[in-house]
Amino acid sequence: MFYEVTKEDEYLFQGKRKRLVEQLKQKGIKDEKVLVAIGKIPRHLFFDQTTARPALLDHAYSDKALPIGAGQTISHPYTVAFQTEKLAIKPGDKVLEIGTGCGYQTAVLLEMGAKVYSIERQKTLFDKTRLFLPHIGYRAARLIYGDGYKGLPQFAPYDKIIVTAGAPYIPNDLLIQLAVGGIMLIPIGEGESQEMNLLRKVGPSNFEKQVLGQFKFVPLLQNKSGN
Ligand code: SAH
Repeated sequence: MFYEVTKEDEYLFQGKRKRLVEQLKQKGIKDEKVLVAIGKIPRHLFFDQTTARPALLDHAYSDKALPIGAGQTISHPYTVAFQTEKLAIKPGDKVLEIGTGCGYQTAVLLEMGAKVYSIERQKTLFDKTRLFLPHIGYRAARLIYGDGYKGLPQFAPYDKIIVTAGAPYIPNDLLIQLAVGGIMLIPIGEGESQEMNLLRKVGPSNFEKQVLGQFKFVPLLQNKSGN
């Protein structure tokens, strides 16, 4: 589905992706569909091509966060795999992503068969990713320039919500827009690292919370940026 592996890609990057998948397995990722998606998506194409390209290409398949422009980073592959696994995506799930960034997590969700809505507050990144994702075959996501704190009420409720930036608190609008029975993954904390929270909506205003360890994210900022 989606991205077509070319001969050149196969030769240069297939092996690197296989090794990354092995690393993720060793770190505890079990969901076969998540591993297949990561084994397929050309992560090396998602970076800011204006910074030191060869150096980045070398690191594209190591478990690192790397620059994507506008002062933002692509999440660690382990973080992407972890959040996606915990979301327990079923084909057809309606998923809201907060923080599109370069669209790597968006591509993983599409490969899992989700119907994806994704919000980005940085205009430059939004404009870049809006062109880039369809360019490499990922046309199905609905990408929105906006403030993720407010969610996207017009398409609510969502079966799953994934926040890919560190939030100081859980935005109330996101709690409202999650479907009953739905799951939200959100990193909480304003310091060096954030605590991954898994929320299950068990009733219209009832939630069960699990805390799943420390991760590092860029901050979830208020309001849209003009550039
Ligand atoms: N999902 C991305 C992660 C990018 S980093 C990936 O796969 O690489 C987090 C992104 O969240 C950044 O692009 C940042 O600009 C964006 N962001 C921060 N605060 C936001 C907000 N309030 N609404 C929408 N996006 C936000």
